[in-house]
Order: sequence, then structure tokens, then C-alpha cells
Amino acid sequence: MPEEKTLSLIVPVYYEEEVLPVAYPRMKAAMERTGYAYEIIFINDGSRDGTMKALRKIAAEDKRVKVLSFSRNFGHQLAVTAGMDEASGDALIIIDADLQDPPELIPDMVKLWEQGADIVYGKRKKREGETFLKKFTAACYYRLLSSMSAYPIPLDTGDFRLIGRNVADVFLRMREHDRFLRGMSAWMGFESVPLEYVRQERAAGKTKYTLKKMLKLALDGITGFSTKPLTLPFLLGGTLTGLCALGLIALIVCAFSVGAAPWLWGLWGVLLVQGITLLCLGVQGAYMGRIFEESKGRPLYIIAEKLNTDFVSAAEK
Ligand code: UDP
Ligand code: MG
Repeated sequence: MPEEKTLSLIVPVYYEEEVLPVAYPRMKAAMERTGYAYEIIFINDGSRDGTMKALRKIAAEDKRVKVLSFSRNFGHQLAVTAGMDEASGDALIIIDADLQDPPELIPDMVKLWEQGADIVYGKRKKREGETFLKKFTAACYYRLLSSMSAYPIPLDTGDFRLIGRNVADVFLRMREHDRFLRGMSAWMGFESVPLEYVRQERAAGKTKYTLKKMLKLALDGITGFSTKPLTLPFLLGGTLTGLCALGLIALIVCAFSVGAAPWLWGLWGVLLVQGITLLCLGVQGAYMGRIFEESKGRPLYIIAEKLNTDFVSAAEK
């Protein structure tokens, strides 16, 4: 057992006072079972209920528990990011506080990491206790996302995952504001292994992902990982202009045979102008996409392994 390696468990919490007394012992027990030294980092994402009181109590009794408390609600993805910034482990495990992702799976994730996986992601084979609407919209969304994204984002996965230190270090260098961690993780590559599990019902309380928050995350997923929507007008404009070219031939033929009403020429002109406008929008979109990609300031490439070389990759500078 490589005793000197350590693990960090990252738990974002938002209005979870009811869940914490149940969640913490189960998380602690699971971490103990791995046999590694560990820390548990709770990030209070601006809750104003008894969450902080519960966390203070846990931290006073257990020195392996670290607590970060945000000044206000910054959102789940940023809470996890703060946890990653703070974590010192050789592997980081991200888990929701509400026990929907069973902490008992952590030792299995650690085993897969020991066997060489850089990322072990939880893949939901079933979701329990969630409404049909949530399951249906989630299934549609994940499929839409993976068809739009230039990188394959695994279907039906959330943020419940283990990432190795090598992956975490790349995460730390990606400082984009609107974050979609599971997409960023897919973008990075690395050896990723799924671990199938049944997503449980929330242990207590209600979902903290309001419709507004979910829509923002969904949009961040698409706009953060695809510039396709920006160039879509180009496709539409191109098609319309192409149709106008065919329309012109048809109009000329009509004009010389049966005759063409003047309003048909007017309509043709309007459609042509629309087509050209859309084409121009698409061109602008292409440039905007480039500016957007640059503004993210991501590493140009990520080296997973180096042999016989002192070369320092951009990802490690
Ligand atoms: N969460 C957070 N900030 C938020 C919303 C949620 O830190 O603004 C935490 C929440 O406490 C939980 C995790 O993120 O640990 C997932 O949230 P939730 O279970 O409400 O989402 P769902 O599982 O319903 O999608
Ligand atoms: Mg949940």
C-alpha cells in the first residue's frame, strides 16, 4: 500500500444542514476504507442556514476536515474549483453532499486509479428518485451536448469523479469563469475510466439546482465547448443564397416563357439580401469563435508522459 500518497475529497455544500450529519460519517468511513491518508474539503457555497454551524462542529472534531466558506453563492462549479485549488492530495475525489453519489464507491474509484486511470468518472446507469422530466431532459441534453462538442463528452456523467494530481494540475491552470467541469475534463483527454453506479435519491432536503442554475450550466456546457452555434448562420446563409441562385435561373426562364410577376422579383431580392446577411453573420461568428477560444487561455496542449526528455510542456510551465 503506497501509504505516502494522500487523497482529497471535495464536497460543495449549499443549504445542506439536514444532509451533513448523515453525509459526513459515510464519507469519512469510505475514506478510511481506502487505507490512504486523506483530507475532506467542504466548500460552503454561501449557505445562510445551519450549514456553517454543522461544518464548524465537524472541523473542530476532525482535523482532517478543511472548510472553505464563500462570501456568497458562486455556484457549484466554482465551489468545486475552490476545493481543487485547496486540495493537496495525489488524487482528488469530487462528490455531491446529498449522497446521491454513494461515497461507498470511493474505494473502487481509488482502485481504478491505482491501476493507472488518470480520471475515474461515475457513470449513472440508473437515476433513482428523480422526476421523469429531469431524467428526460438530462438524457436529451447529454446527447445534444455530445453531438455539438468537438470532444467526446461521456454520456450520463456528472461531476462525481476521481482525478489524479496530473489532471488536477491542468485544471488549476484553466481559469475560465463559466465552467463546465465534466466538459473540461473531457477536453483534457487522459486515461479516463467509467465506474457505473445507480444514482441514489437525495438523502434529505431539496435539489439546490434551480431551473435557472440548470439552464446556465446547460448553456455553459454548449457555449463553452462548441463554437458551432456561432457559425450556424453561415450554413443557413449559404443555403439561402444557393437557393436564390437557383431561384434566379427559374425566374429568368419564367420571365422569357410564361412571364414572372414583379413581386416575385421583389421576394427574390429580399431572400438574397437575407442570405447574404446571414453569411456575413456566420463570418463574424467564425472570428468571434476564435476570440472566444483565445480568451479562455487554455494550455495549447497537455503532455501526459515524457520519456528521455527535459522538455517542459506548456501545460507544466
Ligand atoms: N451546490 C452548490 N452550490 C449551488 C448549488 C448546489 O454548492 O449553487 C451543491 C449542493 O449542495 C450539492 C451539489 O452541489 O452538494 C449538487 O447539487 P444538487 O444535489 O442540489 O443538484 P442535483 O443533484 O439535484 O442536480
Ligand atoms: Mg443532488
